[in-house]
Amino acid sequence: MKHQSKLPNVGTTIFSVMSALANKHNAINLSQGFPNFKSDQKLIDLVSQAMNSGYNQYAPMPGSMELREAIANKMDLLYQSSYNPNSEITVTVGATQAIYTIISAFVRQNDEVIIFRPAYDCYEPAIEVNGGKTISIQLNAPHYKVDWEEVATHFSSKTKMIIINTPQNPSGSVFSEADMLALQKLTENSNCIVLSDEVYEHIIFDGLKHQSACKYPGLKSRSFITASFGKTFHNTGWKVGYCCAPKVLMDEFRKVHQFNVFSVNHPTQKALAIYLKEPNNYLELSGFFQAKRDLFLSLVKDSRFNFEPAKGTYFQVLDFSKITQENDVDFAKRLTIDNGIASIPLSVFNDNNKDDKVLRFCFAKTDDTIKQAAAIINTI
Ligand code: PMP
Ligand code: GLN
Repeated sequence: MKHQSKLPNVGTTIFSVMSALANKHNAINLSQGFPNFKSDQKLIDLVSQAMNSGYNQYAPMPGSMELREAIANKMDLLYQSSYNPNSEITVTVGATQAIYTIISAFVRQNDEVIIFRPAYDCYEPAIEVNGGKTISIQLNAPHYKVDWEEVATHFSSKTKMIIINTPQNPSGSVFSEADMLALQKLTENSNCIVLSDEVYEHIIFDGLKHQSACKYPGLKSRSFITASFGKTFHNTGWKVGYCCAPKVLMDEFRKVHQFNVFSVNHPTQKALAIYLKEPNNYLELSGFFQAKRDLFLSLVKDSRFNFEPAKGTYFQVLDFSKITQENDVDFAKRLTIDNGIASIPLSVFNDNNKDDKVLRFCFAKTDDTIKQAAAIINTI
């Protein structure tokens, strides 16, 4: 049988590749982003309770109402932004499904979608499989700042969507208020949708404030905000997330969502609804992860790697240009096989695989693992 691939240039994601290599060589795995500690026992118990109480059949298509109400309350508390739980919030299979479904619901053949590189890897294939054209704007190490005048030169009536991600994976950079205002100005009077990937909204450091698109009225009216309970509550394997958007946009999203997954697993939604009602469960996260970032950086500060401290996310980028000139993919694989530490090479997220000689290390790990990893890094 012959068929032409819709995604001829797509292989297996770097996260699967590096995690498999780490497992094969028994390396410390700081590559794929997931915690190696348990999520709160209270939350796990709430899932068992929900299962034992009979929440084992389909959840409502847009998500459990109790969870959507808890999300609406959180958006109100944190950003003074109101979303109607009935019509403006949908629970999804992680942020990944939200992102895929948003793109499928709106992007048509030849529509242009602007993304900033290095970009998280699920955006571009979703654009392409729907016939859209990815317009990449390359940001540069070490600060990954956006030049909004450059963005304006790529923005036109063909721009169906702009995808932003703050705090940003993989660079650990964040958007400032000025960035959000520039985006608001650029898109005003246009039909451009903003997909604001905010999965790391609760992981932001040094007193910086998360700039949610919903805080800016001109952006909110055109934005989907995507979020991930996996990232927030240390259970990436549960794959539960959500998105928020004004009703006119959400109506279109749900037309696709109901045939894409219909609904998300019910007992975890019941548990998350109760757990989310306690703000400290997410408000403490920035401090928790900042301590881990600081531990990691204090331990590797005398290594041959250079760095700018991550401003958010649970990833730290380390520059290895003083160590070797080999390409970052080869270097990351060699470190996994020979030194027993796995990381993610950033070139795979860049335009034409631009290689800035930087690797991403995930510090969502126990302090013991961070210490063992740092000890290896100091020998490289
Ligand atoms: N966006 C970004 C920037 C991510 O890092 C991730 C990984 N958590 C996702 C989306 C997908 O999130 P989820 O695991 O909830 O699908
Ligand atoms: N978000 C995770 C990361 O950036 C990976 C998720 C995945 O494996 N697809 O490492």
